[in-house]
Amino acid sequence: MSGVGKGIAAASIGKILQSKGFKVTAVKIDPYLNVDAGTMNPVEHGEVFVTVDGDETDQDIGNYERFLNMDIYRDNYMTSGRVYQSVINRERNLEYGGKCVEAVPHIPMEVISRIDRAAEKANAEIVIIEIGGTVGEFQNVLYLEAARMLKFKNPGDVAFVMVSYLPVPSKIGEMKTKPTQMAVRAVNEVGIQPDFLLCRSTHSLDAPRREKLAMFCNVRPENVISAPDVDSIYDIPINFEKEDLGNKILKILQIDPRQQDLVEWRAFVDKINAATEIVKIGIVGKYFESGDFILSDAYISVIESLKFAAWENNRKPEIEWINSDVYEKDPAKISELSNYDCLVVPGGFGSRGIEGKIAAIRFARENKIPYLGLCYGMQLATIEFARHACGLSDAHTTEINPHTLNPVIHIIPEQAEKMANKQYGNTMRLGAYPCILKEGSLAREIYQQERISERHRHRYEFNLAYKQKLEEHGLVFSGTSPDGELIEIIELPKDQHPFFVGVQFHPELKSRPLSPHPLFVGLIKAGLK
Ligand code: GLN
Repeated sequence: MSGVGKGIAAASIGKILQSKGFKVTAVKIDPYLNVDAGTMNPVEHGEVFVTVDGDETDQDIGNYERFLNMDIYRDNYMTSGRVYQSVINRERNLEYGGKCVEAVPHIPMEVISRIDRAAEKANAEIVIIEIGGTVGEFQNVLYLEAARMLKFKNPGDVAFVMVSYLPVPSKIGEMKTKPTQMAVRAVNEVGIQPDFLLCRSTHSLDAPRREKLAMFCNVRPENVISAPDVDSIYDIPINFEKEDLGNKILKILQIDPRQQDLVEWRAFVDKINAATEIVKIGIVGKYFESGDFILSDAYISVIESLKFAAWENNRKPEIEWINSDVYEKDPAKISELSNYDCLVVPGGFGSRGIEGKIAAIRFARENKIPYLGLCYGMQLATIEFARHACGLSDAHTTEINPHTLNPVIHIIPEQAEKMANKQYGNTMRLGAYPCILKEGSLAREIYQQERISERHRHRYEFNLAYKQKLEEHGLVFSGTSPDGELIEIIELPKDQHPFFVGVQFHPELKSRPLSPHPLFVGLIKAGLK
């Protein structure tokens, strides 16, 4: 079932097997018809994660990258839209040699060939494959068929892990196993027998329920694994290992572990637990509501990056989401921002709440609160500086005001053409691009490198016509594309502000537990000072 923790379970299993000495990669299968996640609303679907090679994927790819501490590529992300598109293209090219092309077996065969390709590209010995959605629904049945075919062809090479949710209805106070029994029956119907059950619940699994699940789901009792809610998702690999999950999976795959597991990971988790002193971080953005619920997954990479950076600085992060609309309705409230050690304005699109964000950035700049602007947060910092430090009072981005006399942020020329042709899918400036850092700048000091590579997802950019003017008033353009045509980083001089940095890219997509991103680490460090 979606949202129950399949992604983290998959990433954790990957981590465990990787730490036992195997080359691992992970594949995400999303059954929807969108070709990628780029055209989906992040409020409903969660963050759009961008890979090095510019794919706009589900946030689980981000979980895999963070847990496995490696880059995951386009080939590792599959949607029904993508799978059908390639089968249909192949049919149009007469590549099926005159055969009738059918949902079965051609779709599952395409799925399997994509899995093979991902494995080959990553040179992986073990591939973790996460099938999204819920067992029994129409849209993932062809993926389950692909999984069945895989096991049929390679019986000793495939292990099935089913993640199931066991409710504890509050009025009854007892963990119910029946939905899981029914779900196992539903996968049995498509020819799959789980080797493991990961029992997600608010509570740990007790002995009687383990026995019952084993008996009625046809799974060995030692392979019925308890997966209760935890405070930190980073505990999950360790919790699974308490039940020896890694070795049990390897046994089914008929291979022996090569080394002791999770050594570095345990040190990382110890560091989390040792951090007790707080660092207070404010993220200024717009509010995300869906009916009665507030969904926070839209910025998962930003939030996790801030946590890694806090832990790296031996601090416990206290992260608050600040609704920028508030400062538009009640400007006096802005002074509450003094309560934070540092502030972030993350990426975004559209006009809602942006004047509030600009006000927050101004407050951070004038009151010397460490500030990191990510993509839109960089563009809005530029606008703020142009308006209030250079006197260009109507400075804006043409995304919001196409008629401004001072378009300090404007559309990238190729992007204008794509928008005019309504080509929205996978057409932004996407993926990793190099950036050169200016000697003597804060950015250069933070990265300790002259040339960096960071991931992008945007249509607008800094308008070079304003570079000189903004420089004259003290803004530093400390990172540019190698040809100098695109501004990648802006900052204030170190003697004027402890940390005021805006980046056109998304460093949050590269920050990982075992290698936190230097920009976030630098922000927190400045905040603590
Ligand atoms: N809306 C801005 C652009 O398209 C910023 C995008 C972002 O923050 N990812 O350029």
